[in-house]
Amino acid sequence: MSTNDFIPVCEPTLLGNESRYVQQAISENWIGSQGKFLDQIHQEFPEYLGVKYGTTVSNGTCALHLALVALGIGPGDEVIVSDFNMIAPAFAIKYTGATPVFVDCRLDTWNMNVAQIEAKITAKTKAIMAVHIYGLSCEMEPILALAKKHNLFVIEDAAEAIGSEYYGKKCGSMGDINAFSFYSNKNITCGEGGFVATNDQSLYEKCLYYKNLCFPLHGPRNYWHAHVGFNYRLTNLQAAILVAQMERIEEYVGRRIENARLYRQHLKDIPGIGLPHQVSDKEFKNTYWMFGITLADEFGLSRDEVGVRLKKLGIDTRPFFIPMHKQPSLSQGHSGADPQDFPNSINLSERGMYLPSSSSLRPEQIERIAAALRTLQESR
Ligand SMILES: *Cc1c(COP(=O)(O)O)cnc(C)c1O
Repeated sequence: MSTNDFIPVCEPTLLGNESRYVQQAISENWIGSQGKFLDQIHQEFPEYLGVKYGTTVSNGTCALHLALVALGIGPGDEVIVSDFNMIAPAFAIKYTGATPVFVDCRLDTWNMNVAQIEAKITAKTKAIMAVHIYGLSCEMEPILALAKKHNLFVIEDAAEAIGSEYYGKKCGSMGDINAFSFYSNKNITCGEGGFVATNDQSLYEKCLYYKNLCFPLHGPRNYWHAHVGFNYRLTNLQAAILVAQMERIEEYVGRRIENARLYRQHLKDIPGIGLPHQVSDKEFKNTYWMFGITLADEFGLSRDEVGVRLKKLGIDTRPFFIPMHKQPSLSQGHSGADPQDFPNSINLSERGMYLPSSSSLRPEQIERIAAALRTLQESR
């Protein structure tokens, strides 16, 4: 392979039984929303997380929506969530008619600043949504303590943190109800897919009910619908891919952690490059869904300029998220949106970018990316 092969920012890694299981689902004629691969993933993924119940859904965005619906969150309610975020958590809150209320993030962890949550709690607040950013767990214990004190629900969005841990507990196992995404760039994937996990049987049953158009869960299948439901079902074809991904989850997640180790080693002495927060695995086990860096003035080139120049060298990157308080789609009907409240979120969104992060990335590719960044810095 030539040294200038294009390196995508992320691609799925399908090294195992993915294709064999999909073919099996087809040959057995189970391609819809029932089948043995669905049964298997409904068993295996909660087991992996250490939670009692869980069910698949069509994608991570509807996993978040379903979680909120199961909790009974709706118009007039407020949900506290980080301003430095992917759009789906805020949209899911909007779908219910509730209002997302933003707190700033921390400059070191990039996760929600827990110290700012309490000031945003009002009589309308119903939940805190803890979104684990780029693979690093939020500070769950203080979040859970605050929720208990104020009688709020906690929803974890572990879409970016499949396999990540907080003091030995899996991300997506600690909240009242938790959402995952299996989109094609996530730590494990089936192209498009999602999951809702909970230890609460009644929340679980509400998820089963609402995800399937509110067909009655018990008794004969009839066409009597007491509530407005959704079709958020996943297919057995996608579950077939997931079952194969689960067989190799330790490897796929381990490769991302190894990528991060190599990136750190090669980038650590380049002036102006800020690396992801590092804490011991015992406390926060980061799976580095995406390996993010921040560029200080010292680097000598802006983040956007670096993105353009790396692209010319065949290296794909992405800028960090745009803060939620700046999103035109959210500018109506959410409180606490004074830009002065979000200095860290704004800072990261201007200086942060993530580098290629696939599980299938090779060490020599990481070396090439690091060398390119070093050359850019030295020749600025
Ligand atoms: C990917 C992602 C989602 C949404 O998942 P989809 O499957 O793309 O709908 C939700 N939250 C976060 C934090 C994500 O990164």
